[in-house]
Amino acid sequence: MKTAQIFIVVLMFFIVLTLAVSAADAAPVKTTHKIKLGDAQINVNIYENAGASVTFFAPHHNEQIGLNLAKDYVNRNGGRLIEIESTDERGRPQRYVKFTFGGKNYSIDPNRIYTDNGRSCSVAPEINETVKNFSDKVLKLILDADGKNLRPNERFIVAVHNNTDVSAKAEKAQSADLTAVSFIKAQSTKNITHGAFEAQADGVFLSNTETDEDNFIFLSTPAHIGYFAEKGFNVVVQKPAVKLQSKQCTIDDGSLSVFAAQTAIPYICLEADGVSGYARQSRMFEAIYALVQAEQKQIESSNVAARK
Ligand SMILES: [Zn+2]
Repeated sequence: MKTAQIFIVVLMFFIVLTLAVSAADAAPVKTTHKIKLGDAQINVNIYENAGASVTFFAPHHNEQIGLNLAKDYVNRNGGRLIEIESTDERGRPQRYVKFTFGGKNYSIDPNRIYTDNGRSCSVAPEINETVKNFSDKVLKLILDADGKNLRPNERFIVAVHNNTDVSAKAEKAQSADLTAVSFIKAQSTKNITHGAFEAQADGVFLSNTETDEDNFIFLSTPAHIGYFAEKGFNVVVQKPAVKLQSKQCTIDDGSLSVFAAQTAIPYICLEADGVSGYARQSRMFEAIYALVQAEQKQIESSNVAARK
């Protein structure tokens, strides 16, 4: 081999090595926070990667389609995912978080603990304090260190959920199921059936291009209705904070969306069918990253304008 050829081979080796090292740099970093809940230490995992200022939150560990998509997208596009880890005795992911306290067994829904009223609806009084401490610590991971404001450069938080397939349920159970239609108020026309969740919603946009009512975007303010409706998604808009100040458990149920409205934090939830929702929820993630990019450009141009 001539000297020049050896030089090229060595050079190519270093180029490949550099590419491999920078690819490794782009891998998300996982950190596990052990948060006390009763006698237990619950793992709350953060997957973080450079490239985008956005935080996803997956409270229900059994909703694996959304969880895996969030990991994939943070891996590819950057951002953060906060995951509450909860498994049953056989290691299978489960919705509820189980723990013991004072020698008794308890289980909580990790999306019903963020407001005082919500906890009074679904959490036993003797565990209220330990559950509140747990929820405050989770909020300090999702939000800025104070647990009350968005992190710098973020404009909203994004929750990720999957629901069970409404069409697979018995007719009676269907009316109590969480779908885009379940947020519609009873109509005088009787053509539309109203649902179990209308008490929380201000209104609903149903897209004629969406074939599954289990797939929808849930917003805490009307600001982005047009953005998501234009992309063909069903959109549910939550009531404003004043209308969520209620002792009724159907209105203030302690979910993160109600907490977000009451704390004036814009909140977007990506809901998709837990069996067939993969492709649709994937489109939702793409819409979120496009929105994050557009809002980032707006922030940068207003910074430039401010400096002029
Ligand atoms: Zn969920």
